[in-house]
Amino acid sequence: MPPKLHNKFQKDAESAQDIGSRSSTSAPAAMKKSPAHHGANGVKRMRDGSPKQNSTPQGSPHTNGLKKLGLVNAVKSTGSRGTQDSPGLGKKRISSSGSSKGEQSTKRNGEFRDKAGPSTSNRDLERTAAKLLEVRKTLPIWAKKADIRWSLRNNDVLLLVGETGSGKSTQVPQFLYTEPWCKKQTVKVQNKDGILEEVSVGGVIAVTEPRRIAATTLAQRVAREVGSHLPTSGSGDRRTPGKVGYSVRFDSNLPVGYKIKFVTEGTLLQEMLRDPHLRQYSAVVVDEIHERSVDVDLIAGFLRQIVHGDKSGRGGIPLKVVIMSATLDLGGLESYFSRPETVPEYEPGKNHQRVFAEHLLEDQRLKLTTGDDQSRRTSTDSESSYPSWGGIDSSDEADANSHPTDGNEEAQPFALAEKKKLRTPEKVSGIPDGDIHESGVAVEYVQGRAYDVEVLYRPTPTTDYMESMLKTILQIHTSEPLKGAGDILAFLTGQEEIEALRIQLEHYAGQLVKTVPRMKILPLYGSLPASAQQEAFEKAKEKFTRKIVLATNIAETSVTVSGVRYVVDCGKAKVKQYRPRLGMESLLAKPISKVSAIQRKGRAGREGPGKCYRIYTENDYSKLDMDELPEILRSDVIEAVLKMKARGVDDVLSFPLMDSPDLVAMEKALLQLHLMGAITDDGKLSDTGKKMAAYPLPATYGRVLIAAAEPQADCLLEAIDVISCLTADAEIFMQAQSEEERDDIEENRKDLQRREGDVITYVTTVQRYAAEQTDRTEWCKKRLVSIRAMKMAMTIRKQLRTLCVSQKLLKDMPPPDPQPFEPISPERAEVLLRTFLVSFATKTAVLAPDGSYLTTQGRNIIAIHPSSVLHGQKKEAIMFLEHVWTAKNYAKKVSAIQANWIIEALGV
Ligand code: ADP
Ligand code: MG
Repeated sequence: MPPKLHNKFQKDAESAQDIGSRSSTSAPAAMKKSPAHHGANGVKRMRDGSPKQNSTPQGSPHTNGLKKLGLVNAVKSTGSRGTQDSPGLGKKRISSSGSSKGEQSTKRNGEFRDKAGPSTSNRDLERTAAKLLEVRKTLPIWAKKADIRWSLRNNDVLLLVGETGSGKSTQVPQFLYTEPWCKKQTVKVQNKDGILEEVSVGGVIAVTEPRRIAATTLAQRVAREVGSHLPTSGSGDRRTPGKVGYSVRFDSNLPVGYKIKFVTEGTLLQEMLRDPHLRQYSAVVVDEIHERSVDVDLIAGFLRQIVHGDKSGRGGIPLKVVIMSATLDLGGLESYFSRPETVPEYEPGKNHQRVFAEHLLEDQRLKLTTGDDQSRRTSTDSESSYPSWGGIDSSDEADANSHPTDGNEEAQPFALAEKKKLRTPEKVSGIPDGDIHESGVAVEYVQGRAYDVEVLYRPTPTTDYMESMLKTILQIHTSEPLKGAGDILAFLTGQEEIEALRIQLEHYAGQLVKTVPRMKILPLYGSLPASAQQEAFEKAKEKFTRKIVLATNIAETSVTVSGVRYVVDCGKAKVKQYRPRLGMESLLAKPISKVSAIQRKGRAGREGPGKCYRIYTENDYSKLDMDELPEILRSDVIEAVLKMKARGVDDVLSFPLMDSPDLVAMEKALLQLHLMGAITDDGKLSDTGKKMAAYPLPATYGRVLIAAAEPQADCLLEAIDVISCLTADAEIFMQAQSEEERDDIEENRKDLQRREGDVITYVTTVQRYAAEQTDRTEWCKKRLVSIRAMKMAMTIRKQLRTLCVSQKLLKDMPPPDPQPFEPISPERAEVLLRTFLVSFATKTAVLAPDGSYLTTQGRNIIAIHPSSVLHGQKKEAIMFLEHVWTAKNYAKKVSAIQANWIIEALGV
């Protein structure tokens, strides 16, 4: 009961508070400054542009024993750490909940508040834009508008650091699209045959985001801000002119004449393989680089090639590159993007843990001595440890060893910006003085709004953090005021935890006394539809109601949740981890890094002073790693190697990446690709490899499609059906909430489930759904199939069919639905499963005499996950497309196979 909890936890919290405040009072004085203010003036001098000067400048608007290696996990790749959520316990709940509108929102097509819909008049658009302009002007980045523009007029690369919410993602593209260099130009370039031909270059700005949801919602928001029309996705209205659009996997929404295009990292990479010179673009803005997904590391590597390479493919026109980050890990980045001759000591491939740029440290020292108002206001916001790990004072930091920059000798190559900038020869009227950097890289720092945030640790370690989270949230809710902003943002590891906590909180919500505010509990994770996510971003509309947002690390930096004053941090996040021994990747809930803990805490101090409750002890905190290992150093690099090859990088082992995977990992990936037939004996990309790289799919799925199209298999349509389900961004089959419901579902799903396992069940599901003519929604409800996921799967199916026709894997488009349902025969099912084995032979296990399954690679025990139709069954051998490591080693998306098929597939 809340009151009881209240009393008990009050005590815990009080002692925790003690510790919390002790930690801040015992910290050395110099540690009290927040990183948020050590660069108020940016790296460079502050320029004194008056508001008038800061306004828009002139310019027109605009390969042996063939021991097979581990394959890449078949999880839907969004390429970012810890954002894939496992299938939820609470999906049904979502669908039946009035407030979160999980499934219901599909009716709105996943779009959020598309006020600028097709019927919106120009005047309405202008009015909205004018209103939003006032809000934009209050953003911290607004004052940096001229500096940002000017930096890019003088340099091709800009590194921009700014706290979450300061306006980077929404404003930077708007500051730039009217710049004189952002124009479509006609140039002459030499084609492959050495003949000159006219091509157009430039005119569009690409902005990359690690997640689909960020790309689509940002596009909608920016469209409204510029007063432009952005048709609702799927509306078919593609002829309307507009300035802003987006392109994400299997969904592109680009109005005529667009200038700003929000894309996912994966989408830009695909474009880079098709057009190595990125001719469509004048600039590429790489957002959220601190997340360091494999894709963003590749993008950075390829952009660096374009920036420092031969520009003849672009008719000599430079490509402007803006790298944006919410954390101060730019030290290595600056050197990475500098003209190589200006940083002779620098070697790419070892950027990790170059957390601070030396000049930012300099700037911080400067700030620490001035003690201006801003510093004081944010002083307690500073983590007692934050400045020290940057090298200022490491006296009581346990993690000093993990920071090569702490010694400071090694930091030398990173001390660039102050020394090597040159003055511009001439001042251009209306623009403040700017600097041309010899390195070609400008750095700007945007100071965000940061208020005091009090950190409260648990006095003793918790044995059950979910319970502690629940108690803490109730404690805050019943004891903290709700004046102005007072919302709670709780960080958990994934959808399952979020839904479980939500159910518990809702239980208490119904028992609160009238004098306590109501609780509005909102989940926030990657696979929620945009509209449901939007609700979490906005202030609660109901009176006397506190918003409680339960989020994954998606809310750490990439989205802004308004109204938050209290952060509750479980201290963990799901991260993708490659386990070389198993030869596979899995998502593991692991302790976060200090950088993440600080980011999470910061979310409480955006709108006013806040509190951050850490569900771990201060000692635990001190033992956290300083920074997350970039994904490329902890994943199977098969995708990365394939993409590098597809971009013409012959010697992938020596390609300069920010952080290079170790040689063994790269060689394993090369071997794997060779076994899959993607690269030839002499290391060149084969036609199969080219096709695999061209699919907007993981390499393994691409390989399955190619194998399925071969005449002896001839099961391409079925393979497409399966892959469509696998790549939809939510699980097709939702989980039952109760025993009773489980029995109902078992009964109702009988017409879908096949004894061969999950792959053949997917084929059956897609084909039955496609044959359904009366009420697809009802059909889905009855079987607890996600309507939204199913719709997305059908869209992907159509696109993959089109793609296969264009690649000549398919002769013609198959006839449109509905087609009569015809169950796949056991013979064809075998052919299809054998086709999957081309990519997944290493993801197999055989039944041991004791009844457990042993993986063929590594001989580890693996159990069939409860979500599989084969759960609890004993088969001679199994193939699994996914793998999770929770309490146990689990196989997901499991199919029954024969042991000799594996031997045949492995060619041994
Ligand atoms: P940053 O990229 O620096 O984190 P953004 O440009 O994403 O900042 O956001 C700046 C501000 O714009 C946020 O503080 C928020 O108030 C507002 N904003 C951004 N996206 C949306 C949206 N989809 N809906 C409403 N407001 C938004
Ligand atoms: Mg942003």
